Amino acid sequence: MPKAKPSPLPPSGNGLWMQVEAAIRPLEPWEQPSWRPIPDDRMVCFGEKSRGGLLVPRWVGVYSPLDTPALPADFMRLFGRGKLPRDPRVLEFYRRYGPVSQSKTLKDSPVWLSRLSTRARSQLSAEARQGLCEPLWWVAEEARRMWLCYELYRSLLQEDLPSVRALLGEVPQGEDVRGTRLSPIGISLLTAEAEPRPGGRRRAGSAALERPAERVSAQVPGRPLTDEECCRWGWRLLADRLTAAQEQSSVNWLVDEEEGRYRLVKGRRFRDLVVAMYLQLGEMMDRGELYRTCRGCGGPFWPARGKQRFCDPRCGDAYRQRRFYRRSRTADS
Ligand SMILES: [Zn+2]
Repeated sequence: MPKAKPSPLPPSGNGLWMQVEAAIRPLEPWEQPSWRPIPDDRMVCFGEKSRGGLLVPRWVGVYSPLDTPALPADFMRLFGRGKLPRDPRVLEFYRRYGPVSQSKTLKDSPVWLSRLSTRARSQLSAEARQGLCEPLWWVAEEARRMWLCYELYRSLLQEDLPSVRALLGEVPQGEDVRGTRLSPIGISLLTAEAEPRPGGRRRAGSAALERPAERVSAQVPGRPLTDEECCRWGWRLLADRLTAAQEQSSVNWLVDEEEGRYRLVKGRRFRDLVVAMYLQLGEMMDRGELYRTCRGCGGPFWPARGKQRFCDPRCGDAYRQRRFYRRSRTADS
């Protein structure tokens, strides 16, 4: 009998992704949607003309995102927390992890195009239509959404109900929560009025209202979520998000050869890097694990060493420098 492998997903069977050499250029006016929660005017490009005159990705290597636990943490820490990184850090990310939105098959158009108007899409370059560039406003939206999911998971796992409440917002008075929605600005509760409107019955689904969490708290004298609602809607949101990612991935059977003997290996295929990252997070949530939190920037990271306290040596240096100046300032006064 062949010996069982310890890991259910051997690295050779997992979908590979390309690492690219990227460049940054300013955004064209038609490359931005009418409304973006995170303003940024940079476009990351990673295409080049091949000898035959075709546009191809400028790739420098391949790796397996599902075997790279640091990837989702790096993505959320760099792009998901408001302030976007400077150009060199962005290029470093693409060199290590590759493009975020390009679909694996090159048949589907990149996801960010769906945020533009039909008119804007008709003005796009061949490079954009083929998914060989992507705007950082979109990358930041995806990262922000993922970071909200991770924060929600962390608060739920640690039974930190005040944080869960802060993430989910409040319920307007007299209304019931029917669901949740995740957007880069935050989590919104989908609510419906508890009582039918005077003068007749509601049409099914017609009274569902959507409000960004912060507006609910600020304007409507709402009631706080009950503990039970906090947990139920929080976990439900995570389950929905992970299911959505799962639906954009599939099992991929491969033939593996070792010393002249063949066998089948089960691998994974995923639409794009965002999907691959949610698959990773799903595995992590399944095991009930958390990333480590960086002492310098407070962001999540995957430690390469046992006692690592900072996400990156540069983050550690900056932290020590800040502490040094703070101390010398206190000493001066
Ligand atoms: Zn850090």
